Amino acid sequence: MTKARSNLQIDSARLWKDIHDTAQFGATAKGGVRRLTLGAEDRQVRDWFRAACEAAGCAVRVDALGTMFAIRPGRDMSKPPIGIGSHLDTQPTGGKYDGVLGTLAALEAVRAMNDAGIETELPVCVCNWTNEEGSRFAPAMMASAAYAGDYTTDDILSRRDAEGVTVAEALDEIGYRGPDAVGAQRFSAFVELHIEQGPILEAEGKTIGVVDRGQGIMWYDGTVAGFASHAGTTPMPLRRDALAAFAEFVLAVEKVARDNGPNAVGTVGEVTIANASRNVVPGDLAFTIDMRSAQAGTLDALHAGVTAAAAEIGARRKVAIDLKRIWRKEPTVFNPALVDTVERAAKDLGYAHRRITSGAGHDACNLAAVMPAAMIFVPCKDGISHNELEDATQADCTAGANVLLHTVLALAGVVSDGKA
Ligand SMILES: [Zn+2]
Repeated sequence: MTKARSNLQIDSARLWKDIHDTAQFGATAKGGVRRLTLGAEDRQVRDWFRAACEAAGCAVRVDALGTMFAIRPGRDMSKPPIGIGSHLDTQPTGGKYDGVLGTLAALEAVRAMNDAGIETELPVCVCNWTNEEGSRFAPAMMASAAYAGDYTTDDILSRRDAEGVTVAEALDEIGYRGPDAVGAQRFSAFVELHIEQGPILEAEGKTIGVVDRGQGIMWYDGTVAGFASHAGTTPMPLRRDALAAFAEFVLAVEKVARDNGPNAVGTVGEVTIANASRNVVPGDLAFTIDMRSAQAGTLDALHAGVTAAAAEIGARRKVAIDLKRIWRKEPTVFNPALVDTVERAAKDLGYAHRRITSGAGHDACNLAAVMPAAMIFVPCKDGISHNELEDATQADCTAGANVLLHTVLALAGVVSDGKA
């Protein structure tokens, strides 16, 4: 590596300006962003992104689900590009950095290569994946999931939002139903920069998270069937109170997660009491559980723990606790060689770094099933995300973009840097 190239940095002021300029597309009064996927504001940011990528010398392709691929040519165009990027849609009360940082830093990496006169062996492709957030259309991360083969394109195109508008109609409305088949754009590897969305890096004073795993997840639908009876006339020993039994079960879910910690979480997020009334002992209720861990064996242990708790509490309290696991997604293991490349870039650039697990899902987690993939995290203030208060520093965003740049240079292979 030449000295000039090892010192190469992205233009921090330009990246920061882009992040704040694009935040006007869907800006909220509280300083956040509301840019639901495939809506009017999404079209504005997409048009901006397309123009910026073309100005940086990229050819922009769009696939049938609206995912945008901006290709910077390499010397060997027969090889698939190194993919970099993230998403530009946000939550209804989202922040300025979630997804945006990774997408605009990828564009900035391309511009930095242009400014330095760098030619790479492999092409580089800046990506904007459609509907990462999942707040308008389900599922979240639908475009990368379809790319990985989890859903057909037609299935995704037929999904409807709360108003009954399909993905296909929304794509047509904003002019982003592209001609390319989903999956037609191949990649040699994919690297996504993202804010951590958690508190670990900030708490430890680290600038870069080298993401080596993504959490697996299990979702359950459950019911408790007891017996509804008069709140005044049913003696305590004779009750089969579904809610009192459920209260014990919720604490059991918490205990199972704690007992399998520190890298396990369990959450009962919803409960609905059927025909709830203040003077009726609850007879039936329905609930959900979300449990996650980065280790498949821990997922197994969590499953065994909550299943046993449901049986024990149900038998002792003479209620039926029924648990149905409706989804299990295995933990993501990012490509070890790629993770090492990210780590080396962070080290060479002198940033404090650590290995980290992604607690949230990301497009890179889906893509890791079908190509070598890795992620780079930077801290966000107080770990807050999916909130208008989401915040990150210019220095940390710049550091993440620099690690992304040097990871790409290593993966794409520099054939000339204009200084030879
Ligand atoms: Zn995101």
